[in-house]
Amino acid sequence: MGEVSCHGNLIDGHTRCVHWHSPLDIIGIKFRCCGKFYACHSCHAECESHIPERFRASEFGEEAILCGACKRTMSIAAYLGCGDRCPMCGAGFNPRCALHRHLYFE
Ligand SMILES: [Zn+2]
Ligand SMILES: [Zn+2]
Ligand SMILES: [Zn+2]
Repeated sequence: MGEVSCHGNLIDGHTRCVHWHSPLDIIGIKFRCCGKFYACHSCHAECESHIPERFRASEFGEEAILCGACKRTMSIAAYLGCGDRCPMCGAGFNPRCALHRHLYFE
Protein backbone atom coordinates (compact mmCIF):
# COMPACT_ATOMS: atom_id res chain seq x y z
CA MET A 1 0.00 0.00 0.00
CA GLY A 2 1.27 3.48 -0.81
CA GLU A 3 1.60 6.37 1.55
CA VAL A 4 -1.71 7.34 3.10
CA SER A 5 -2.29 11.04 3.48
CA CYS A 6 -3.98 12.37 6.56
CA HIS A 7 -6.22 15.41 6.32
CA GLY A 8 -7.11 18.10 8.82
CA ASN A 9 -5.44 21.04 10.50
CA LEU A 10 -2.19 19.21 11.01
CA ILE A 11 0.74 20.66 12.85
CA ASP A 12 3.33 18.04 11.99
CA GLY A 13 3.98 14.99 9.85
CA HIS A 14 2.72 12.52 12.42
CA THR A 15 -1.00 13.27 12.23
CA ARG A 16 -0.99 15.62 15.22
CA CYS A 17 -3.50 18.41 14.73
CA VAL A 18 -4.43 21.70 16.33
CA HIS A 19 -6.92 19.86 18.57
CA TRP A 20 -4.86 16.90 19.69
CA HIS A 21 -1.12 17.16 19.81
CA SER A 22 0.37 15.37 22.80
CA PRO A 23 3.29 13.05 22.08
CA LEU A 24 0.81 10.17 21.94
CA ASP A 25 -1.70 11.72 19.55
CA ILE A 26 -0.37 10.07 16.45
CA ILE A 27 -3.22 8.24 14.83
CA GLY A 28 -5.31 9.17 11.85
CA ILE A 29 -8.79 7.76 11.40
CA LYS A 30 -10.59 7.05 8.17
CA PHE A 31 -14.17 8.22 7.98
CA ARG A 32 -16.76 6.02 6.37
CA CYS A 33 -18.52 8.97 4.70
CA CYS A 34 -15.68 10.25 2.54
CA GLY A 35 -13.07 7.53 2.90
CA LYS A 36 -10.50 10.13 3.97
CA PHE A 37 -8.16 9.88 6.92
CA TYR A 38 -8.49 12.71 9.42
CA ALA A 39 -6.45 13.45 12.52
CA CYS A 40 -9.64 13.83 14.56
CA HIS A 41 -13.36 14.40 14.30
CA SER A 42 -12.94 18.17 14.81
CA CYS A 43 -10.63 18.26 11.80
CA HIS A 44 -13.25 16.42 9.78
CA ALA A 45 -15.89 18.92 10.89
CA GLU A 46 -13.74 21.89 9.88
CA CYS A 47 -12.75 20.53 6.49
CA GLU A 48 -15.94 18.81 5.33
CA SER A 49 -19.48 20.08 5.09
CA HIS A 50 -21.17 16.69 5.42
CA ILE A 51 -22.21 14.72 8.48
CA PRO A 52 -19.49 12.32 9.61
CA GLU A 53 -20.31 8.67 9.23
CA ARG A 54 -18.79 5.97 11.39
CA PHE A 55 -17.76 2.46 10.54
CA ARG A 56 -20.04 -0.22 11.87
CA ALA A 57 -19.08 -3.18 13.99
CA SER A 58 -19.42 -5.44 10.95
CA GLU A 59 -16.79 -3.32 9.19
CA PHE A 60 -14.08 -3.44 11.83
CA GLY A 61 -11.87 -5.30 9.38
CA GLU A 62 -11.53 -2.01 7.48
CA GLU A 63 -7.98 -0.63 7.39
CA ALA A 64 -9.16 2.60 8.93
CA ILE A 65 -6.44 3.49 11.43
CA LEU A 66 -3.25 5.21 10.38
CA CYS A 67 -0.23 5.12 12.66
CA GLY A 68 1.41 8.53 12.46
CA ALA A 69 4.76 7.08 13.52
CA CYS A 70 5.23 4.36 10.89
CA LYS A 71 2.58 5.59 8.42
CA ARG A 72 1.07 2.16 8.11
CA THR A 73 -2.58 1.28 8.43
CA MET A 74 -4.29 -1.29 10.59
CA SER A 75 -7.83 -2.51 10.90
CA ILE A 76 -10.18 -1.07 13.48
CA ALA A 77 -10.26 -4.47 15.16
CA ALA A 78 -6.46 -4.49 15.38
CA TYR A 79 -6.49 -0.98 16.85
CA LEU A 80 -9.12 -1.79 19.45
CA GLY A 81 -7.09 -4.80 20.55
CA CYS A 82 -3.63 -3.24 20.39
CA GLY A 83 -3.37 -2.05 24.00
CA ASP A 84 -2.65 1.54 22.92
CA ARG A 85 0.54 0.57 21.13
CA CYS A 86 1.13 0.25 17.40
CA PRO A 87 1.33 -3.47 16.57
CA MET A 88 3.72 -2.67 13.73
CA CYS A 89 6.22 -0.17 15.13
CA GLY A 90 5.49 -0.16 18.87
CA ALA A 91 4.70 3.56 19.11
CA GLY A 92 2.44 4.41 22.02
CA PHE A 93 -1.08 5.70 21.34
CA ASN A 94 -3.12 7.99 23.53
CA PRO A 95 -5.24 5.79 25.84
CA ARG A 96 -7.71 8.66 26.17
CA CYS A 97 -8.70 8.14 22.55
CA ALA A 98 -10.76 5.26 23.86
CA LEU A 99 -13.01 7.84 25.51
CA HIS A 100 -13.87 9.22 22.09
CA ARG A 101 -14.35 5.89 20.46
CA HIS A 102 -18.07 6.50 20.00
CA LEU A 103 -17.29 9.45 17.73
CA TYR A 104 -15.49 7.21 15.29
CA PHE A 105 -16.90 3.73 15.59
CA GLU A 106 -20.37 2.43 16.18
ZN1 LIG B 1 -16.42 12.58 5.75
ZN1 LIG C 1 -8.04 17.79 14.77
ZN1 LIG D 1 3.25 2.37 13.84
